[in-house]
Amino acid sequence: MSIALDLDHASHPARASAPARRSLVGLSKPKLREALAGIGLDEREAKMRASQLWNWVYFHGVTDFERMTNIQKGVRQTLADHFLLDRPEIVSEQVSIDGTRKWLFRFRDPQNPRLPPVEIETVYIPEEDRGTLCVSSQVGCTLTCSFCHTGTQTLVRNLTAGEILGQILMARERLGDFPAGQRPADGGLVPSGESRAITNIVMMGMGEPLYNYDSVKDALLIAQAEDGISLSKRRITLSTSGVVPQIEPAGREIGVMLAISLHAVRDDLRDMLVPINRKYPLKALIQACRDYPGLSNARRITFEYVMLRDINDSDADARELVRLLSGIPAKINLIPFNPWPGTNYDCSSSARIEKFADIVNRAGYASPVRTPRGRDIFAACGQLKSETERLRKKDREALAGV
Ligand code: SAH
Ligand code: SF4
Repeated sequence: MSIALDLDHASHPARASAPARRSLVGLSKPKLREALAGIGLDEREAKMRASQLWNWVYFHGVTDFERMTNIQKGVRQTLADHFLLDRPEIVSEQVSIDGTRKWLFRFRDPQNPRLPPVEIETVYIPEEDRGTLCVSSQVGCTLTCSFCHTGTQTLVRNLTAGEILGQILMARERLGDFPAGQRPADGGLVPSGESRAITNIVMMGMGEPLYNYDSVKDALLIAQAEDGISLSKRRITLSTSGVVPQIEPAGREIGVMLAISLHAVRDDLRDMLVPINRKYPLKALIQACRDYPGLSNARRITFEYVMLRDINDSDADARELVRLLSGIPAKINLIPFNPWPGTNYDCSSSARIEKFADIVNRAGYASPVRTPRGRDIFAACGQLKSETERLRKKDREALAGV
């Protein structure tokens, strides 16, 4: 690896000596103004240019300063000399038989071009009434939930706010969501009654978003901003395995919808399935949910519950789940376990899932069973892992049950 990088450097001697340009993607408006002041723009101009840049980058999806026609040529050149608006490189783009798309994105660190690049996965799930982008917050995950493929990945680092937004911007580009964009040839991707393909964002890709709080916060505030990507905070959901101390700040400062990866209703079992439970047990987690800022019947918490055969799927578990959540405005999302190579778990049978759902329904909860999407391209919940196993087609089909 180092030889390849050295060769790369040697063939670009100019790049080795030039100061690294800094990416502007992911900077909040005040930080953007500061960056512009840092290259000598006075306060008034920095403010104006920050607004113009914001609109070009987030509303129009422009990546080249040259295309910013309301900024004078000389200023465009100065910006290009100091800054980047880079997006990730697309390593692969796969489309499932059900229309789900999965991208493997590669990021390089412009400040440290000698560092090896990192790769993460982002998934787009089109449905009749919505189009959801499942975004990653980390490369891998430091947590080791025993049923999750991402948790087996050893290479872990936080993504920057720019890299989190880079996934959204690149997906919007590929789906033709920018004003001058091109829709993909297969069409039919824009949900009915909507003007764009991506209507919702879920932080449910790789990583634990609350272990990368500052970057996730910056990125999600930018995704909400009205003069840019402009997604309502009701249409953004952050999923956590239960990093209790960060739950209240997330509600107060980011204000998005909350999902909790519950998966077990007893501490002894949850300690095994979701090991962060040893640090923040159920009692503390449920209390943090009760205290979530803005919680109401219109803004419910989603509790995710992966259905694992003979592990957490009994009638008694279902009854305890209902008891545990009583009084919390909640939705319960039952997720059929998605298998991956080497896992010891099986998915509960359909009959078992139905019986479980029935108990939950009768207690008054809507408990949709999440239909696995994109299994044939290994894009379903918990299957993401960037050292993407090169499964043979036959094995993939066997896993997808097609
Ligand atoms: N780290 C965060 C968000 C990413 S995981 C979290 O854990 O909440 C998104 C969801 O997929 C979580 O509820 C996770 O528990 C679930 N999941 C992980 N592996 C899965 C698998 N193999 N099958 C089904 N769901 C899985
Ligand atoms: Fe990490 Fe979430 Fe997977 Fe647990 S379920 S290992 S927290 S990504």
